[in-house]
Amino acid sequence: MRTVRTISELRAALRTPRTNGRTVALVPTMGYLHEGHLSLIRAAREAADLAVVSLFVNPTQFNDPNDLAAYPRDEQRDALLAQEAGADLLFAPQPDEVYPRGFTTQVRVTGPLTEALEGAHRGADHFHGVTTVVSKLLNMVGPDVALFGQKDAQQALVIRRMATDLDLPTRIEVVPTVREPDGLAMSSRNVRLSGTEREQALALHAALHTAERHVHGGDHDAASILQAARDAMTPFAVEPEYLALVDPEDLSPVTTVDQDALLAVAAHVGPVRLIDNTILTPNGGTAR
Ligand code: AMP
Repeated sequence: MRTVRTISELRAALRTPRTNGRTVALVPTMGYLHEGHLSLIRAAREAADLAVVSLFVNPTQFNDPNDLAAYPRDEQRDALLAQEAGADLLFAPQPDEVYPRGFTTQVRVTGPLTEALEGAHRGADHFHGVTTVVSKLLNMVGPDVALFGQKDAQQALVIRRMATDLDLPTRIEVVPTVREPDGLAMSSRNVRLSGTEREQALALHAALHTAERHVHGGDHDAASILQAARDAMTPFAVEPEYLALVDPEDLSPVTTVDQDALLAVAAHVGPVRLIDNTILTPNGGTAR
């Protein structure tokens, strides 16, 4: 695996494989790789001949400067892990390679997809930062397929919308959430949790799991499911920033779970803001 830092090096590295008809997959990441990222890289290897991993902590998608400053970084470790998972190329640009002087364009998905849930709490600008950088990365790499995690369910929906609306030639694939054995969704931010906070962080999974049990037990009433999920967080002394049951395609609120519904949760645990979600399936399917 090679590491490249500029767009011209990246394009040069992809020229020959492309001429030889090899397909390319892109996995955009902000680094500090964990099993969730590695499952995306493995899926990328399945989906295409070459896997490109981008490593860029995108400043424009952080609404909180402290979160940006504290974001964990370790490029050497990331390079080893990406290589082990089968990545062919690591693209690790500096901020001024991505945002050169004079940069002033944004790609925005507007409406409920970026204004609900995360958008309501972090601001829609978070997603405008995501869609701008992802569309740039797609233009830099020109992949046949790009892979994203269900862990960031709303982000995946927003990116799919952007790809459809802008007629992007890249196929967007979404990969299931990878969890720790006790259910905590893997996240680069988890390393910032103290021992006690790590225990408290289980509140999010407890909420999702309780809701799944309710639905499998025949409860289809959103208010009652949400109350049970909220109650499940209480023993952990964690308050949800939001806990919402919405349509998995357009994020409109759901009152009855008579078809698949997205249960999404966000909560602050110590210094870290965590998110998680699951799809509730009314007919006994296993939610992820
Ligand atoms: P990030 O580095 O946090 O921006 O994440 C890069 C990609 O990895 C995004 O598509 C995320 O949705 C995905 N991802 C993050 N955590 C997980 C996880 N626990 N399971 C699966 N995918 C994940």
